[in-house]
Amino acid sequence: MKFTKSEYIWLDGATPAALRCKTRILPYMEEAKLDSFPEWGYDGSSTYQAQGHASDLVLKPVHFINDPLRGQGHYLVLCEVFDEQGNPHESNTRAKLRKVLDAGGQNHEPWVGFEQEYTFFSGHGTPLGWPQKGYPKPQGPFYCSVGSETAFGRKIVERHADACIAAGICIYGINAEVMPGQWEFQIGYRGIEGESVDPLTISDHVWLARWLIHRIAEDENVSVSFDAKPVKGDWNGAGMHTNFSVKETREQGGLEFIHQAIKSLEEKHMEHIEVYGYGLEERLTGLHETCHITEFKSGVSDRGASIRIPLHVKAKGHGYFEDRRPSANADPYQVSQRLVQTVCNL
Ligand code: ADP
Ligand code: MN
Ligand code: MN
Ligand code: MN
Ligand code: MN
Repeated sequence: MKFTKSEYIWLDGATPAALRCKTRILPYMEEAKLDSFPEWGYDGSSTYQAQGHASDLVLKPVHFINDPLRGQGHYLVLCEVFDEQGNPHESNTRAKLRKVLDAGGQNHEPWVGFEQEYTFFSGHGTPLGWPQKGYPKPQGPFYCSVGSETAFGRKIVERHADACIAAGICIYGINAEVMPGQWEFQIGYRGIEGESVDPLTISDHVWLARWLIHRIAEDENVSVSFDAKPVKGDWNGAGMHTNFSVKETREQGGLEFIHQAIKSLEEKHMEHIEVYGYGLEERLTGLHETCHITEFKSGVSDRGASIRIPLHVKAKGHGYFEDRRPSANADPYQVSQRLVQTVCNL
């Protein structure tokens, strides 16, 4: 008999949430469907999600993709966490996003695109490419760079992009970032006809892409940090800029709707900051292409704003906007949920 390895992946109860996974061996499937993957359980007392005396939690498969690392016939199975009574666990932020989409969000046809920044660390505890003692040369030549003097970790970055493509993840692009050892991948809308770019699918893809970069870097003894400010001082933090549009912003005259959306976002600024990542105050300082955490600003082409309207959107009069506030360690389910709720007035 032929078998398949299915990697069950879920979010734990840590702050910020981290990924957990374990492998289930299942009979080989000619054509896998979501219900080909049985529910499974685990010890929630070991993932900051339950007490030892009532520790069993339930993994419910909600989205699977081909496993690009183990190859054909193997799967990555993203799961939501439920308690024994069948209620979503309090850490189950995906369920909260589903609720907002079902309550009317979906009618506005929201599209999202995340720019996920992250930093590689070597075994020495310094970012990849940094000297063991002291600092590299100041920021300037590293962003979108090429060559071994400025770009560190490309082997992993390339393997990751190939893995995402092979798995059908909506990866839009990759680039080296401003701080040496820091990179970005974008997941979301990429203008391909018929592709689902709703916030639930794309947020699932972000978590799966995060899992893949951890897993691929693991083989190279490199660790991946989603920390908002991985190195203190005059070094760029790591964000997760979130590009967002709804039917109304993409239609003729959509810029007017974008301005309304920005007003609504301004009213909820501090509420959103609460769920836009951990250590956000260290990153949103007003320096390094950020707007200060206590301020809310919007602007065309302005990388010091909370919300940036891209120049080409302004020129066309419709399109999308970029929320620059979320940190690299923010939860895409929560960011999407707040954007849909606020922009669609739900
Ligand atoms: P930046 O110039 O801020 O670095 P990137 O090129 O890194 O921007 O990323 C652009 C992002 O915008 C991608 O994640 C893409 O999915 C997203 N995007 C493009 N158009 C739309 C749209 N209409 N709605 C939502 N997101 C969009
Ligand atoms: Mn970018
Ligand atoms: Mn970036
Ligand atoms: Mn940046
Ligand atoms: Mn950006």
